[in-house]
Amino acid sequence: MTKQITRVWSFASDSNPNVEHQTLKYADGTTSCNCKGWTLRLAADGTRSCKHSRAVDTGTADQICKATHSYLIGIFAGESDAWLGWRFNEN
Ligand SMILES: [Zn+2]
Repeated sequence: MTKQITRVWSFASDSNPNVEHQTLKYADGTTSCNCKGWTLRLAADGTRSCKHSRAVDTGTADQICKATHSYLIGIFAGESDAWLGWRFNEN
């Protein structure tokens, strides 16, 4: 099942300014990131976190990100669960 994304943040990598990390926040409140910290680190309880997802959780992400976009919740097409489309808002 595809989780609904409510917001996405872009962060510049500390080690390489040409690299950008994207952190997603889902409608259920969980987060996900594509940086190494997120993908390599797995806590004993099975949860993942990185500085980006922690910034999202603590509300500081908006200040330190390069860009942030919010998604309006898409509309499901009946039983098929196919998206009719996302709306993508520049913030
Ligand atoms: Zn991250």
